[in-house]
Amino acid sequence: MAEATPKQLYVGVDLGGTKILAGVFTSALKLVATAKSSTKADRGPKVVIERIARVIRDAVDEADLDLKQIKAVGIGAPGSINSEEGRVIFSPNMSGWEDINLRRDLEKEIDVPVFVENDCNVCTLGVHFAELSGKPRHVVGIFLGTGIGSGLILNGTLFSGFNRTAGEIGHMVLEVGGPKCGCGNKGCFEALASRTAIFRRIENLVKDGQKTVLTDMLGDNLDDLRSGDLRKAIKKGDKLVEKVIEDAAEYTGIAVGNIINLINPEYIVLGGGVIDALEDEMMSIIVETAKDYAMPGTFKGVEIVASKLGDHAGITGAAVLAREHSKT
Ligand SMILES: [Zn+2]
Repeated sequence: MAEATPKQLYVGVDLGGTKILAGVFTSALKLVATAKSSTKADRGPKVVIERIARVIRDAVDEADLDLKQIKAVGIGAPGSINSEEGRVIFSPNMSGWEDINLRRDLEKEIDVPVFVENDCNVCTLGVHFAELSGKPRHVVGIFLGTGIGSGLILNGTLFSGFNRTAGEIGHMVLEVGGPKCGCGNKGCFEALASRTAIFRRIENLVKDGQKTVLTDMLGDNLDDLRSGDLRKAIKKGDKLVEKVIEDAAEYTGIAVGNIINLINPEYIVLGGGVIDALEDEMMSIIVETAKDYAMPGTFKGVEIVASKLGDHAGITGAAVLAREHSKT
C-alpha cells in the first residue's frame, strides 16, 4: 500500500456489544486490512473508546500505514445516535453508554476526523454503495442477528426520523399476544425471527420432548448452538429445525411485505448472521410470503436480495460514512 495517495484511505469500525472490528479501505472501498478485539462493554465507555482506538491503530499497522494517512474514521454503533454531533444518546446493550460523545473522545485518542452513525444504518450504507453501486434511490436493509434492526435510505439519503430512532423494524408487532420481546411488548418481529428467538423456540421444543439431530450434535442442553448448526441439521433432514426456520422466514416475509406496502423501496436487502447462515433455506420463503402480503401493483420490479457482505457489512458501511462526510 506504499503507493496509495496519502489521505485517500478510510477506516470503518463496527462497534458491537461483544466485538470491535475495524477495516482499512481505499476510496474505491477496497478492503486493505482488518483488526479486531473484544469490546469489554462491562468496563464502561472510557475503556471501550480506548479499545476502539487500539483496534483502529492495529488495522492501520496491519496495512503498513500510519494514522496520518487516514482521511477519516467511520463508526457504526448500536443504539440511538446523534450523528451530527457523533454522540451515542443511548445504547441498550452497552453499560454506561448514555449521552457519550464518541466522536470527540475518539478524536482525542487518534487525531483523525470521526463520524458516528447507528449500526443498522451503517450496514445499509455498506450494502447500498458496495453491492448496489449507490444507485437505487430507495433501499431498506433488514438485519437478522441477536436482534433485528433495519436501515432506510429514502430519496438517496439515510432517513433517521424525528427522534433519530427510525428503522426499529424488530419491534414491529407481527403476532398479537405472541412471545415476549426484550422491549417489553409481545409478538415483535425480533421475538419471532431473531437468532435469540429461533434458539429459544428450539430449546423449548427440545424441553417438551421433541426430537432433533441438534442434541446428537451438541448435547441435550444445546450448549454452543450456532446459526450454522441449524443449516447442518436441515441438510440432515431435521423436521423440527426446518419448521422453526420456515416459520422465522415466513414472519420475515410478512415484515418485508409490510415494508413494501408502506415505503415501496426498489431494493430490500436482508443480512445479519441468521441470513448469512440460512440464505438458501429462508430467502425463497421470504420472497414468496412478501409477495402474498404486498398490495397489488406494489411488488412489481421490487428486488428482495440477500447481502453478500456478511461480517464486513458494518466496516464497509462505516468506511462509506467516513468517505461521504469527508467529501464536504
Ligand atoms: Zn420488541
